[in-house]
Amino acid sequence: MNAFELCIVKVTAFCNIDCSYCYMFNAADHTHERVPRTMSEAMALRLLDRIRDYLDAGGRRRFHLTLHGGEPSLWPLPAMRGFLERVRALNAEGYHLTVSMQTNAFRYDERLFALLAEHGVSVGVSIDGPREFNDRRRVTHRGAGSYDRVMGNVERILGGPGAGVFQGFLAVADPTIAPAAFVDWAAALPVTRLDLLWPMDFSHLNPPWDDGDEAAYRAAPRFGHWFAAVFDAWMAKDDPDLHIRHFYDCIAHYLGSTRHIESIVNDGVPMFVVNTDGAYEYHDYLRPHADGACRTGANATDHPISVLHDDPLFRRLLALAEHLPADCAGCDVRAVCGGGFLPGRTGAPGMPRSVLCHDQGHFFAHVSRTLARLGVPPAEGRAAGTGGIPRPLLGGRVAVAA
Ligand code: SF4
Repeated sequence: MNAFELCIVKVTAFCNIDCSYCYMFNAADHTHERVPRTMSEAMALRLLDRIRDYLDAGGRRRFHLTLHGGEPSLWPLPAMRGFLERVRALNAEGYHLTVSMQTNAFRYDERLFALLAEHGVSVGVSIDGPREFNDRRRVTHRGAGSYDRVMGNVERILGGPGAGVFQGFLAVADPTIAPAAFVDWAAALPVTRLDLLWPMDFSHLNPPWDDGDEAAYRAAPRFGHWFAAVFDAWMAKDDPDLHIRHFYDCIAHYLGSTRHIESIVNDGVPMFVVNTDGAYEYHDYLRPHADGACRTGANATDHPISVLHDDPLFRRLLALAEHLPADCAGCDVRAVCGGGFLPGRTGAPGMPRSVLCHDQGHFFAHVSRTLARLGVPPAEGRAAGTGGIPRPLLGGRVAVAA
């Protein structure tokens, strides 16, 4: 049986900035109004007990916890310390628990970063491109841009006791940014490691095309073209120190990597979320659909994690490879795409192929064609027949662009 390997821990239910696209506070879900503002230390320790019991029952030792929110850096320091000390104690007993934190870095507390460094917590900072673009979406509660303050705090992190914890940046795709300018910006960051995300706000309830005109979108998939152009600009820059994770992951997959990576492959999603009240929840991807859409009815106070294996949606997510959408069966990039990044598969019964199919299909095919043109041999079965062009797109109007 596939098992959970990762838990997103919502240690706060509030944030010190107000991003326009935030699925926690600016979408249909208002769970944050009904749960505690912060997770209590007791609840965090209860969750660790549940994880220990879950690992014991499965004869396993490894598990990853991502501290999330809201804004996790606002979790009171004593709770953070108590949580990390318990993680350390469990690891001393032979478990292998790892912890990361995704922060907006709008606030810098040297004591926090010293603590994170002491416990080996890795930290990623969210920022959405150059200042003028970031500041359209990642704004304060008064609508001001956040870029300068965040980048100032990044410098403070890198100059302080927590320098070693900083893993890099995370940005959500923005096709309004010129691809070459985006790559130049990434190359000038103080740490040139970037995670580039597909947008999470599109689903079958909110597709990326206007007025139901999917055919026109298929011919010119906005995000797919943008990702391909950023990939080309990154390749042209030929800077081995500029690490854009999604591109490395795609190349690794082309060369034969079988590692499961979120946003590609999509053969299983071995994660669940725990909110500040200890409730076990589905992934955040469901929050835009309805108020309470993530709630499962189970929680860390009363239930072992194993109850989630009885939940039909979690069962499906844990074995997603067995549920490849029928539309994807003949697609040449299905091994890397797997039906698409999960948010785009939500909002319709049965999790059909992603509404970003045209985007992701275009991009994955572009990567494999580019590598093939450069003479890089694919691993067996990784770029078949058509040069990786997904068959649904061949049946459509997409230009087979170089
Ligand atoms: S590109 Fe489209 S058809 Fe191919 S696997 Fe992805 S979602 Fe399915």
